[in-house]
Amino acid sequence: MKTVFLDRDGVINRNPPNMGYVRNWTDFSFVPSSRNAIQQLTQSGYRIFVITNQSGVGRGLYSEEDVRDIHSRMTAQIAEAGGRIDAVYYCPHRPDAGCECRKPKPGMLKRAAQEHNIDLSSAYFIGDVLTDIQAGKRAGTTRFLVLTGLGEESYHDYINAKYGQYGNKEECCPDKIFTNLYAATRWLLSA
Ligand SMILES: [Mg+2]
Ligand SMILES: [Zn+2]
Repeated sequence: MKTVFLDRDGVINRNPPNMGYVRNWTDFSFVPSSRNAIQQLTQSGYRIFVITNQSGVGRGLYSEEDVRDIHSRMTAQIAEAGGRIDAVYYCPHRPDAGCECRKPKPGMLKRAAQEHNIDLSSAYFIGDVLTDIQAGKRAGTTRFLVLTGLGEESYHDYINAKYGQYGNKEECCPDKIFTNLYAATRWLLSA
């Protein structure tokens, strides 16, 4: 079965300004056309999973209950538009916690694969930062970078060889680059 993994902030919803966090539903606003994209993926038979780092929990900025509330409202609004999110995986830990789930580690992707019987080698991961691309590479998926959210900065980091703390050129290399989730979706559905 066709599967696509989506990062949340900067792909489905806008990143709050100044590297801010989405603490509650008031901070959440959809990237234009992202719901439409998810609806088209659903209609075309894709299973869709959200894979998101939420270190704001570990930092004490908001609670896991807040995160779950955001995700239930997000999936409800996506459902209203005709899309379906199969599951949302989030990492609540601080970057220095050394957990196995925080991207660029592939833990959440591997867990989703086990729990939902996903063949990672035929799955796609769409994200806006290089750690998404790294996680997707480590899990063995095909990786798309989108230029919404932090995507433009990530693209410049990539071409200027600023691979961040963990990665290298090979791990950070996206398979394709699209302007946004909608454009990535149109490509997937016409491929
Ligand atoms: Mg993101
Ligand atoms: Zn974690």
